[in-house]
Amino acid sequence: MVAQHAAEFIRDRLSAAEPVNDGQQTPLRGHPVFIAQHATATCCRGCLSKWHRIPQHQAMTAEQQAWVTAVIVHWLRQEMQRPLPPERPRRKKPINDRQLPLI
Ligand SMILES: [Zn+2]
Repeated sequence: MVAQHAAEFIRDRLSAAEPVNDGQQTPLRGHPVFIAQHATATCCRGCLSKWHRIPQHQAMTAEQQAWVTAVIVHWLRQEMQRPLPPERPRRKKPINDRQLPLI
């Protein structure tokens, strides 16, 4: 399901030789895939070129799109398996039963 979304986002927003609004096509929030894209440098063609060696200014091949999808899915799986951070120790409530002298 998420892999399907990732594949669609890549096809629709990234795969063209000159994607619309390249560099700003991936929102910072709103869908787990968007978060994963920023985390894995698969958010725009600039990042794909710099970090994944996928050249800019040419349409992405099916193979490149499959690679990017796999990276995103892999990252999301890792995130889901990450243990929750330990619960913060609750701060002890101040003791209120001792009335402070007013004067
Ligand atoms: Zn980017």
